[in-house]
Amino acid sequence: MDDGSVNQNDPLTAGLAKPRAHDPYRADIVIPCYQEEEALPHTVPVLLDFFGKLVADPGNRLAGFRVILVDDGSSDRTWPIISAMAERHPEIEGVKLSRNFGHQSAMLAGLMIADADVVITMDADLQDDIAAVADMIAAYEDGSHLALGVRNDRSSDSTKKEGSAVAYYRLMRLMGANIVENHADFRLMSRTALDALKQYREVNVFLRGLIPTLGFPVKLVYFKRNPRVAGEVKYTFRKLVRLALDGITSFSVMPLRMIAFLGALIFAGTMIVTLLFLYLYFAERGEVVPGWASTVLPMLFLGGVQLLSIGILGEYVGMVYLETKRRPRFIVEETTSRALAENAALEARRSMQG
Ligand code: UDP
Ligand code: MG
Repeated sequence: MDDGSVNQNDPLTAGLAKPRAHDPYRADIVIPCYQEEEALPHTVPVLLDFFGKLVADPGNRLAGFRVILVDDGSSDRTWPIISAMAERHPEIEGVKLSRNFGHQSAMLAGLMIADADVVITMDADLQDDIAAVADMIAAYEDGSHLALGVRNDRSSDSTKKEGSAVAYYRLMRLMGANIVENHADFRLMSRTALDALKQYREVNVFLRGLIPTLGFPVKLVYFKRNPRVAGEVKYTFRKLVRLALDGITSFSVMPLRMIAFLGALIFAGTMIVTLLFLYLYFAERGEVVPGWASTVLPMLFLGGVQLLSIGILGEYVGMVYLETKRRPRFIVEETTSRALAENAALEARRSMQG
């Protein structure tokens, strides 16, 4: 698995990868945690063991690691567990957000606060196959600034979720957002790529959509998604729908264009029907008593189209509204280390400067 090669046939990486300086480097592993009291005791030992071995392995240049657990405003024992683990293991650090900001914002908080040479993001439930990290590290050493985990089967998802995921990726493509299919938020980013991401100041973040706009040599790393180690799924249906909508509105103005297109289509249709009626009335002297259907149906139809259009417009206006407020993307309440607190303060200052 860890053969250290970048696939030159991969359209995203072909001709781009160059070996970088042969320096040892450190990794930060960012993990958003929301109500993960059950998963963390399983996950953390696995992480410590895996990265410990990776650091000891002379086959790579990874020289050290730190796990940053971001508590996304959990109301269970997640934070006490994180702080206890941070006390026990020097490699574990915690960042506590002041409330539940959502998966994307929690991950972003970790990314903005991390300061290692490479930063790896993954979920708290070990669904992202940790073995794939070895491939990501290899890709980085081979010159990729981004290594994206792509799941090559969805057997652990329900068929409903699988179907909606496929439809969603297709829709996003259609809308012109260049997202990598089946890539969620399991990825490695180099310092350089992360610094580029820091230049994006939007409040409504949809990381997997932003990442392809960064550029840089990219490598796709394939993995099989595992079942959750413990606990329930933290992504409620509502959160998923919100994520999907944010993904579309933050990346595409296609729905706005479709409104105009729909309007034009309906206008043309109405013209044709009107001409037809005129023809029937004057030329054929037909029985064109304007009945109930021809009055009420167009009214309902137009009413529907208008409401739909206003709704789509509203989604975008709402986005503009939220963005212009420039509210903080996350708020840190507490960290387990002074260095992380300083990074968090630095990021807060940066965000105030816009
Ligand atoms: N998560 C979070 N904030 C939320 C919801 C989820 O930080 O509001 C985290 C959660 O702890 C986990 C990751 O996001 O580490 C993915 O969540 P989950 O496994 O529940 O969803 P899945 O992607 O597997 O459907
Ligand atoms: Mg999960």
